[in-house]
Amino acid sequence: MVSQEKIMSFPHMGNYHIAIEFLIRHVLENIQILSPPPTTKKTLELGSKYSPDFVCVPFKYNLGNYIEALEKGANILVQSGGGCRFGYYGEIQEQILRDLGYDFEFISIIDNKNVNPVAFFNRFKRLNPKLSFVRFAYYFQLTFKMIEAMDSIDATIRANIGFEVQEGSFERLQKEFLKELPAVEGFRQLDKIYRKYDALFRQLEVNKPQNPLRVGIVGELYTLMEPFSSCFIEKELAKKGIQVTRFITVSYLLRHHPKSSDLLKWAGKYLEYEIGADGTDSVARARMLAEAGYDGVIHIKPFGCTPEVNSMPMMQNISSDYKMPILYFSFDAQTSETGVHTRLEAFHDMLLMRREKEEWQNVI
Ligand code: SF4
Repeated sequence: MVSQEKIMSFPHMGNYHIAIEFLIRHVLENIQILSPPPTTKKTLELGSKYSPDFVCVPFKYNLGNYIEALEKGANILVQSGGGCRFGYYGEIQEQILRDLGYDFEFISIIDNKNVNPVAFFNRFKRLNPKLSFVRFAYYFQLTFKMIEAMDSIDATIRANIGFEVQEGSFERLQKEFLKELPAVEGFRQLDKIYRKYDALFRQLEVNKPQNPLRVGIVGELYTLMEPFSSCFIEKELAKKGIQVTRFITVSYLLRHHPKSSDLLKWAGKYLEYEIGADGTDSVARARMLAEAGYDGVIHIKPFGCTPEVNSMPMMQNISSDYKMPILYFSFDAQTSETGVHTRLEAFHDMLLMRREKEEWQNVI
């Protein structure tokens, strides 16, 4: 290893780096943390340049994050592991980075075959031999609570930001909320901060109609949770005055994820077997959104994402049976932001026209 000082970094995904940094800072006091710079076009260019062409886009984003972090001095990289091809990403990324001449330690924090708190603790303990299980368990749970608080606030934002009276008020308050999190010292303080901001968000002035346009977003987890990778699709919908619902978050995946049997039950006749990764979730949720009378669904995925490609025929059936439009997006390194915005514009116009038609039908 070139440097004696241990500097750890990890890939970006939404605002979750705040919670990851928090955990690492408290359980690996012997290691410095370097949050990779926020994901930008440059990150994607770097990642794409050194990735195999056919690989799905989260691989490219992660690789770009790693290169940027290594260039800034990181010498320990963390890969989270996970289902689907994602579980094999780490080894290939490590090899690519070594071929590029970087000197670093690469650790997988989650072993796909062994996902439990003790296995997780053992991995941290290897990095910090002085770490006690009690300390680890405390901060692990506190971090999880923090993630739950972030996800809950995010859900409130998604439901209301499209109707804010003062432009930027939700984003400003969210920044303040996120700024307070790193200094949290315990559960009680975290709860206090959460309650304070939950109340503040509810007090923000909104001009929300009784029956706003409602759109659900389903699809692959990375594109759902890293806004840059979906050309900030939720923000674009909010600008059009649309209430957005999304189920997949980190706390949903780690603790609140429904059992597969429940997902299949919700998917009903549209799906008999699990289709891997988030595909089953996409079908089940699309049907639930249709049943709940949503105006439309947007399905997002990285280009070539097999589980999500598999979910599309069932979603098309749901769309046709429930007469609920579904807009499909595939994101890759070449995705044009303008193209995404144009399609969203057309989708929005169609939703408005459907509403108008319904109103006329009610009058006649
Ligand atoms: S879920 Fe899709 S995007 Fe994610 S690793 Fe699997 S194929 Fe790639």
